[in-house]
Amino acid sequence: MVKKRILVTGGAGFVGSHLCERLLSEGHEVYCLDNFFTGQKQNILHLMSNPYFELIRHDVINPYLIEVDEIYNLACPASPVHYQYNPIKTIKTSVMGAINMLGLAKRVNAKILQASTSEVYGNPLVHPQPESYWGNVNPIGERSCYDEGKRAAETLFRDYNSQNNVETKIVRIFNTYGPRMHPNDGRVVSNFIVQALKNEDITVYGKGDQTRSFQFVDDLVEGMIRTMNTDASFTNPVNIGNPVEFKIIELAEKVIKLTNSKSKIIYKDLPSDDPMMRKPDISLAKQALDWEPKVNLDDGLEQTISFFKALIK
Ligand code: NAD
Ligand code: UDP
Repeated sequence: MVKKRILVTGGAGFVGSHLCERLLSEGHEVYCLDNFFTGQKQNILHLMSNPYFELIRHDVINPYLIEVDEIYNLACPASPVHYQYNPIKTIKTSVMGAINMLGLAKRVNAKILQASTSEVYGNPLVHPQPESYWGNVNPIGERSCYDEGKRAAETLFRDYNSQNNVETKIVRIFNTYGPRMHPNDGRVVSNFIVQALKNEDITVYGKGDQTRSFQFVDDLVEGMIRTMNTDASFTNPVNIGNPVEFKIIELAEKVIKLTNSKSKIIYKDLPSDDPMMRKPDISLAKQALDWEPKVNLDDGLEQTISFFKALIK
């Protein structure tokens, strides 16, 4: 195996910390760059004693220079609660972060992968969503800073590839969950598990008939690494997600059952522009990466529940 120097932006976050851990376990040198907006030292504490792991406190809206072979660009708050806290900063992080990291990739001749999102499909009118679908996104809504920021980042990746020959990769990540999600993250899986473990009301937004397809974080990390390892001609976006679709109300019931909770389900207003359905078409990932998710929702939830039990005991 060739030992690579790999930069992971957003490496102290939920997904980033799992990616850093996996890359280190494969024998690579990992530089974790993060401004700790939603990331935490706790997520990477267990990696700090590894001499091949370095932590860099930096904000991707400012340029950064480092000699690396690969860049995974994950820096960006991902939960609606966090990305809506400072929407201007969110879109700056996506767009200026992409420009800075692509500029770095160009300068040091590194391969670069963008953590894009199923949000580029907005509230989709095509179901399930293949990569060829252009999406249905509100440019001036509450989710726009995130959705449009990620869409612009994809455009930049495409243009740096065609104009400057930078080797770019784009993964469109669908809802992902697992250990190290922040307990106050605000996303549905962590909210429901924390509420259930505390026997508090489970907050279902709307009627709970909106759907999502939940992917365990280990499957995502595998898909990201496989995408990075494709040959230089593979630059089109690829969906990485679990195609098994659930209603949000079904998720609530499942979490109550798996935690033996006394929680009751209560209903709150559906946030504006909340997509009514989401499910990836993963034909491309299957064919080009020989990848498909391996962890089913019950097994992934068990692992995530154990993590939160230890955290909030
Ligand atoms: P997260 O909030 O846990 O992690 C994001 C990390 O980026 C945090 O460590 C945060 O401190 C860091 N960060 C934010 N702004 C930064 C900045 N300006 N400079 C440097 N660091 C900054 O979220 P996550 O779930 O781990 O998501 C990681 C990436 O994957 C994000 O780009 C997100 O958009 C994408 N993604 C995640 C999901 C999911 O379901 N988890 C779905 C689609 C896309
Ligand atoms: N949701 C919910 N209760 C919560 C948090 C979220 O019913 O406490 C719903 C939310 O309205 C959305 C779905 O769960 O329909 C997924 O929300 P999340 O924020 O996890 O991700 P995204 O909307 O970005 O897919």
